Amino acid sequence: NLIAITGHELRTPLSTIQVCLESLASEPDMPLELQQVMLTTALSDSERMRKLVQDFLTLSNLESGRVEWHPESLTLQECVDLALSRLRTRSTAEKPPTIKTQIAESLPLVRADGDWLVEVLAKIIDNACKFTPTSGQITIKAHQNSNYEVEVIVADTGRGIEPNRLEIVFDRFYQEEGALRRTAGGTGLGLAICRQIVNGWSGKIWAESQGKEQGSQFHFTIPIVQSSQELEKIKR
Ligand code: ADP
Repeated sequence: NLIAITGHELRTPLSTIQVCLESLASEPDMPLELQQVMLTTALSDSERMRKLVQDFLTLSNLESGRVEWHPESLTLQECVDLALSRLRTRSTAEKPPTIKTQIAESLPLVRADGDWLVEVLAKIIDNACKFTPTSGQITIKAHQNSNYEVEVIVADTGRGIEPNRLEIVFDRFYQEEGALRRTAGGTGLGLAICRQIVNGWSGKIWAESQGKEQGSQFHFTIPIVQSSQELEKIKR
C-alpha cells in the first residue's frame, strides 16, 4: 500500500518535470522568461521528489526496525539549538515567525539518540514556521512530568488544526490541502516519521489545538536520565 501511494506521489512531480523539459527541448524560440519559469518549476519539482524519496526511505527504515539507536545523555537546550540552526541555514523565501525558547536550566538530562531527537525537533519547528504567518509566534517549552519524562511543547499561533484532525495529522501523506495542492514544500511524511522516532524511545507524541486559526501545540515526551537510586525506587 505504501509503495502504491508513494508511486502515485512521485509520478506527479515527475510528469511536471517531463512536460517542462519536453517544452524546452521542442520550442527553441520560447521567450526567455518562459524558459526561466519552466526551469524553476522543473527544479522545484525535482527537489520535491528528492525530499519524498529521502523521507520515504527514513520512514521505511524506522517502520521495519532497521534503525540502530544510540541513546546518550543529552541537554534538551543543545538539541533545540541544533534544530534551530539547521532551520536557519535552510533558505526560505518567507521570513519565519518569532521563535522563543523557554527551557529551564534545571531541566534534567534526557536519554535519547541525539541525531533523531534533533530530527523530531527540526520537523516540528519547521511545520510551526510553515503554518504560522511571519507576524505570529512560536514558543518551545519543556518541563518534567510525573512519569520520569521531559515533555517538550512546540506551540504556534498559526492556522490551527480542527479537533477531528488532531490524530490523523500523524498519518502518512496526510496534508490538509489534499493531494492536488501539494506545493507548500512538504511531503506529508514528517509527522509520521516523528511518531516512529518518539515511539522508538517509548515516548508519546500528540497534537492539541482549539481549532481553525487558533494555533497548534505539538507535545512529545522523552525519558530522563535517572540516577541508580531513582531507578531502584521505580523498580520497587
Ligand atoms: P508536511 O508538513 O510535509 O505537509 P507533516 O506530516 O509534517 O507533513 O504534517 C502533516 C500535516 O499536518 C500538514 O500538511 C498540515 O496539514 C498539518 N500540520 C502539521 N503541523 C501543523 C501546525 N503546526 N499547524 C497546523 N497544521 C499542521
